[in-house]
Amino acid sequence: MAIYLDSAATTPMTAAAKAEYMQVAEAYPANPQGSYRAARSAMAKLDECRERCAAVLGCEPAAVYFTSGATESDNMAVTGRAHAGLVAASAVEHKAVVAPVLAAGGDLVPVEGDGSIDRDRFRAFLKERSSALALVSLMAVNNETGVSYPVEILAGMVRKHAPGALFHTDAVQAVVVQPLASLGRAADLVSLSAHKFGGPKGCGILVAKERGALKPLILGGSQERDLRPGTQDLAAIAAMTVALEGAQAGVEASTAYLSGLQQRFEALVAELVPAAIVSGAGTLRSPSITHLLLPGATSEELLFLLDEAGIAAAAGSACASGALEPSHVVLAMGVPAPLAKSSLRFSYSTSTSLSDIELAAKALAEAYRRLAP
Ligand code: PLP
Repeated sequence: MAIYLDSAATTPMTAAAKAEYMQVAEAYPANPQGSYRAARSAMAKLDECRERCAAVLGCEPAAVYFTSGATESDNMAVTGRAHAGLVAASAVEHKAVVAPVLAAGGDLVPVEGDGSIDRDRFRAFLKERSSALALVSLMAVNNETGVSYPVEILAGMVRKHAPGALFHTDAVQAVVVQPLASLGRAADLVSLSAHKFGGPKGCGILVAKERGALKPLILGGSQERDLRPGTQDLAAIAAMTVALEGAQAGVEASTAYLSGLQQRFEALVAELVPAAIVSGAGTLRSPSITHLLLPGATSEELLFLLDEAGIAAAAGSACASGALEPSHVVLAMGVPAPLAKSSLRFSYSTSTSLSDIELAAKALAEAYRRLAP
């Protein structure tokens, strides 16, 4: 069995989420929209899930919309808001945000060399566009570098300098490393994806507090209060709810555990691969991700050798792996393209052991020695 260090790409379903999925699929086969008893009980279960997710997210149940995952949630927020004016996002957002922003003719907020957002530059960005802005999207934790953003502070800046804009945060990578309630209170719109925290794939959430602020992307029935038509996948939603509660209940302990793993891994890498550069070093980072640049090697070669050694890591975002182009995230941090092509991302979960990351650091040192002697 390979050592899995790609938890930022996806996580297996937790035992509790799987059990809930099976139980709900069995017990609630009816369409929640029906008008008979079994349908009403499916609708009651759906309402219960909505309430429980809202409690974790610090928002009203009516603000929780179930979606097919964060790609859809991000698109709903950005494209759904573009009718109201200019949309903007940081240059290091996931493609699920950057692509719809660019498609809508929106603007990208620049980042610094360590991936952070400089407050003075951000303030100037907002003031220049103030009345035009309808949406600003800034993620909580970057999925490639693990750089964390102070969402509450940045949301406050948007409220002050661009009061007509809604604040959206893609919190996909934050669920396993920070409590969501204060983030949920600070933002108008929040995207989550179940498979990043032990829930099923193809299921997610968009929190949208202001009713009518977004135009639906797809038209159909009246499910999810007209914003996201289509019959809900109740078993997946229930499993996601259980996984969300589980991840958040243990978030302090898991953050402490992940920090220990990250420190050990990065100390070993510094010792065994002194040429490696840790992206975002010096700024606030999630303990779940280490992103490295390895001068003189390429991601493809490194991943091949790591895979041979039984280590599953990634070049960057899951969607970009296998692609030869350097990541837009790393380029936005001012890294030259050849160096950007040497990116490797190691991401951990509470199932990762100390011996896993020690073996991974040794395998990386061996692979790097072969490629860049
Ligand atoms: N946003 C971030 C930060 C992600 O890491 C991902 C997953 O790759 C997504 C959005 C897309 O999520 P999903 O796989 O649910 O479409």
